[in-house]
Amino acid sequence: QQQQQQQSDADNIKVVVRLRPLFPHEQSKGAAEVAHVSEDYSSLKVVVPGPAGATMQKEFSFHACLGPETSQADVMALCGIQQLLDAALAGYHVTIFAYGQTGSGKTHTMSGKEDIISDDAYNGHEHDGIISRAVHYLFQQVHTRKDAKYSLKASYLEIYNEGVYDLVHFNPKAKSLPVKWDASYGFYVQGLKVVPCSQQRAMMEVIRTGMKHRKVGSHRLNMESSRSHAIMTIYCDATPTDPNSYDFGTIRYGKLSFVDLAGSERVKDSMSEGTMLKETININKSLSALGKVISTLAEHDAAGTTAHVPYRDSKLTKLLMDSLGGSALTLMIACCSPSSLQVEETLSTLSYATRAK
Ligand code: ADP
Ligand code: MG
Repeated sequence: QQQQQQQSDADNIKVVVRLRPLFPHEQSKGAAEVAHVSEDYSSLKVVVPGPAGATMQKEFSFHACLGPETSQADVMALCGIQQLLDAALAGYHVTIFAYGQTGSGKTHTMSGKEDIISDDAYNGHEHDGIISRAVHYLFQQVHTRKDAKYSLKASYLEIYNEGVYDLVHFNPKAKSLPVKWDASYGFYVQGLKVVPCSQQRAMMEVIRTGMKHRKVGSHRLNMESSRSHAIMTIYCDATPTDPNSYDFGTIRYGKLSFVDLAGSERVKDSMSEGTMLKETININKSLSALGKVISTLAEHDAAGTTAHVPYRDSKLTKLLMDSLGGSALTLMIACCSPSSLQVEETLSTLSYATRAK
């Protein structure tokens, strides 16, 4: 039993790499494809410049490595997303991250093509990302499962420069929302709108509204949306209905967090003045806080020990505290460009991802 527990703990954090295609406009600028995944999806090789014009290969292995031909539907299957959604319906907390430099495919992976999220996702669209596909699956389950009465709710927020902004109940002049601590709930955002969604259509509306406001917000704050973290949360409450079931009368509070992280690239020094500098420090701070939290959890899960996990170092890790570690399930999708011109950033993403494994 004990052994089994530890076994599954070590598996609570999964790391997957996704390489996007090399675009024709990159090729015409002389970029070559320098990252390739293995046929069995278990590893990838990167050609890196060595001394005196020579090249060498570096190899990395992860739970899965997805190449440029991987479709959005394949991502669901190869990342085991359905198991994570089932876990949330069973009352677990689940976090799915997209990490990587700007332009590496984070938003594509999480949300799909921004402008053509299918209207109701009843039929789905090939470009739909993980979030719409997850919503589709969840409502299908909720409407057919008989073991419990389910109710789904959603919120969508953005963390920018250590300020938290509501992307659903959006006010362009609003100050950031306070993050509070409650002994029984943990950290939460005071005043954040949580929308009850009895139909899939309502949740798709939350997603579209949130994505639209992420763009508008970036204009308001005069920033790139790539400088902010976006968290779309689905709350899955389930009340068991079978009076003979062991858990009859115990409500399960499952939770899914989809996190489209800020670009991981280092901002050029020449640009890092004033606001930009503060912003860069804060982004690096929350990404490194997240890295520390996940690598601490990964190390200690594997060793079966417990440790001090520095959740309080950033807003991002505070808000995800109840969804990282313990019995929570985490999937990190490290998005990479295959381009020779971005090989440094790709290596830095892969080393971040390796620490999380
Ligand atoms: P990020 O959110 O990391 O900044 P995006 O998701 O916006 O990056 O991706 C940058 C561009 O590349 C977008 O035009 C997107 O549609 C495209 N793209 C990213 N990943 C893929 C992919 N796997 N297949 C096809 N196009 C992709
Ligand atoms: Mg993006």
